[in-house]
Amino acid sequence: MNENKTQTKTQTVLISGGSVAGLALAYWLHRHGFTPTIVERAPQLRDGGYAVDFRGEALDVLDRMGLLEEIRALDTEMGDAALVDADGRQYATLPAAVFAGDLEVLKGDLTRMLYEATREDVEYVFGDSITHLQQDADGVLVTFEHAAPRRFDLVVGADGLHSKTRALAFGPEEEFVRHLGIYTAIFNLGNYLGLENTGRLYTAPGKAANIFTARANTEARAAFHFAAEHLENDRRDTAAQKRIVAERFAGEGWEVPRLLEEMDAAQEFFFDSNAQVEMDSWSAGRVVLLGDAGYCAGPTSGRGTSQALIGAYLLAGELAARGGDHKAAFAAYEEQMRPYVAEHQVLGREGAERFFLPAPTQEFLDMLAANAPENTRTEPVRLPDYTPAAA
Ligand SMILES: Cc1cc2nc3c(=O)[nH]c(=O)nc-3n(C[C@H](O)[C@H](O)[C@H](O)COP(=O)(O)OP(=O)(O)OC[C@H]3O[C@@H](n4cnc5c(N)ncnc54)[C@H](O)[C@@H]3O)c2cc1C
Repeated sequence: MNENKTQTKTQTVLISGGSVAGLALAYWLHRHGFTPTIVERAPQLRDGGYAVDFRGEALDVLDRMGLLEEIRALDTEMGDAALVDADGRQYATLPAAVFAGDLEVLKGDLTRMLYEATREDVEYVFGDSITHLQQDADGVLVTFEHAAPRRFDLVVGADGLHSKTRALAFGPEEEFVRHLGIYTAIFNLGNYLGLENTGRLYTAPGKAANIFTARANTEARAAFHFAAEHLENDRRDTAAQKRIVAERFAGEGWEVPRLLEEMDAAQEFFFDSNAQVEMDSWSAGRVVLLGDAGYCAGPTSGRGTSQALIGAYLLAGELAARGGDHKAAFAAYEEQMRPYVAEHQVLGREGAERFFLPAPTQEFLDMLAANAPENTRTEPVRLPDYTPAAA
């Protein structure tokens, strides 16, 4: 990889969070000649999880990373899905165009691919977290839960919706995170219904459950969504979260009883509020936020992965283009990303508002599919060419 010879000041960058945003940033920073270190709280790469889709320019970023063909090979190739009633009767078809974007992959497949593309060039510290940040004129002194304190030139918070970096450098979560009124649980299970590249969706007032095939129909992912105001729950207490879901879905029809049993046994389990992050500024001195940590648009926007990839490209590119002048680079990154993020946050809020509409008719679903490109289009974000980052 070529080194960016214009770099003069900034060298070492600590990235908190080793998921889509953090991994993509590490890739680009290394390619521009910086020295990134990733600290990830999980003991190893988190390569499980749900399907995510990409739109528009995110595919250009993957292309510039030389990963587009590889990611296309991981496409879930999801077909249309069926809406079912409490007795399992199919009453409508949900066209894939409505939910699968330009390309859909399992999030875990994406992070695995980004990790493989960076593991030899980037220092990874798993099973640790930052605990304190102390900035001065020349850098940031970082303390960790386990590792010894270290100094870095810059710190990037790519640690998601509940960002520790944001809490340390900007303030408590309540100031920035806006709950959208939906909770979601997702878990892995076997494809016990024998579905082929498709899914089944069930709705009841204020509730939805679904199952979709994964990994060439050898596995499945199921989800429960329910409407609720903010719940006080311990984010690390999986058993308590499963109980909350089980209580909400007790007595529901279709496959819900079986899915609740599967959830109970599931090792791979995700539970969280659907939320957005709204901040007046994404940087504070030498600390900057990237991806969901700084500007989560919510799962109902369908744009979080694209934002993470594009944000990483712009942040690294601006740092390189400005010779490591972090102040100018952070301002340019934010100026380019803000309008793009603002549109997605509108999409996320609108999506949340119509999430639990009563069982839709086929006519309505066909109309959504026909309008899918318009409904999901946002103004393009410009991706400058930050040469000399050639492969
Ligand atoms: C149910 C659901 C469905 C979604 N569907 C889509 C979709 O279809 N399309 C789409 O584009 N997006 C979708 N998204 C959004 C997408 O997953 C996120 O926007 C995207 O993953 C953001 O990436 P990120 O790297 O910023 O944050 P995350 O993926 O949340 O990663 C944050 C990382 O930081 C780590 N971390 C957390 N705290 C610490 C700490 N203290 N120290 C170190 N590491 C830490 C975490 O372990 C994690 O690895 C969906 C999200 C959800 C919840």
